Amino acid sequence: MSQSFKVRYSYLPQQFADVGEVFEQMKKFIPTGDFTLGKPLAQFEERFAALIGAKHAIGVGSGTDALKLGLKAVGVGHGDEVITAANTFIATVGAICELGAKPVFVDVDDSFCMNVDQVEAAITPRTKAIMPVQLTGEITEMRRLMAIANAYKLPVIEDACQGILAATNDKNGNLKNAGTWGVAGGFSLHPLKNLNVWGDGGVVVTSDDEVARTLRLLRNHGMRNRDEIEIMGFNSRLDTLQAIVGNWLIGSTHDITAKRIDNGAYYDKAFAGIPGIRVPGRRAGVRRVFHLYMVFADHRDALFQHCVDNGVEAKIHYPIPLYLQDALTFLGHKPGDFPVTDRHARTILSFPCDQHLSRAEQDIVIDTVRSFYASKKTRAAA
Ligand SMILES: *Cc1c(COP(=O)(O)O)cnc(C)c1O
Repeated sequence: MSQSFKVRYSYLPQQFADVGEVFEQMKKFIPTGDFTLGKPLAQFEERFAALIGAKHAIGVGSGTDALKLGLKAVGVGHGDEVITAANTFIATVGAICELGAKPVFVDVDDSFCMNVDQVEAAITPRTKAIMPVQLTGEITEMRRLMAIANAYKLPVIEDACQGILAATNDKNGNLKNAGTWGVAGGFSLHPLKNLNVWGDGGVVVTSDDEVARTLRLLRNHGMRNRDEIEIMGFNSRLDTLQAIVGNWLIGSTHDITAKRIDNGAYYDKAFAGIPGIRVPGRRAGVRRVFHLYMVFADHRDALFQHCVDNGVEAKIHYPIPLYLQDALTFLGHKPGDFPVTDRHARTILSFPCDQHLSRAEQDIVIDTVRSFYASKKTRAAA
């Protein structure tokens, strides 16, 4: 499989090249035997809550579980409907389906998040919650979405798995982080996310004491204590060893974010000058954190191949809309139901934008894209 790229997508070998300190901490921790819900987990949860600006953070087994437990905590169950974005990673929909609930899609717009104008039309008597997805590190128009949700008394559980430290202005013009708008927000610590550990992990945040209490029960079999089971729950605790990795990295989150934002701005400027590429509109009052750096490209498939052939590891997130996937035929959708999602599937392309990417590597990406459209023009003129 391994083709060596001039500009690679994964930066994990660089990120975790020097981890002696993590091993030292693990060496000290392991003899304590405090493996489940151990002290490093409690420390990580406190730091995560402070980072996001939520009162509580609860470490769980994965980002998917963070969403599932968040939905369950507000009472989503069998036969309920949950409104979510048509273009997302399968895990959003998986979390809804795991509870026996039905995902109801709303098309996205060019922010890559749900088109809030279409939410009201998707609400039915069975709607139990709304799950906006802060895709690519962008953020949904949360002020407008919360107004709709409040009018219908629907809880909002944010899928902030790609949106750590993404934010948008509150009514006073202050940036308010993804995950803190709704009653709860789910984050992923998967190796491919901006704040990552050495395997699966997730965090659900909330500022509601009662919801926090329920979430702590839900992740640990519903056990109030060693002997008493209060509700039916799950086994979904963030591994304490992974919390050690998280504690080691979490202090860098602002730097990681700043570097990605800087890289994104550099690409934006260069790509604005390349006909054939359209940079998505950059709304004011938003902090987008470029979990993915995504543009719209003419002749996308040919450009993608050109990039790969020339050593630039581009990606497509995602080439087949969820609503057309075999696994979701039971929802009864037909091609064309979500035209913006369809257009995105045909035209989007992602380039590496991480904190370990150099300007020289970005220049290679930009030159590779430029050369593709230049040679297309030459051929067209010939
Ligand atoms: C990664 C991701 C998830 C799920 O996270 P896991 O930790 O892999 O379970 C959910 N939603 C979105 C949008 C994601 O990108």
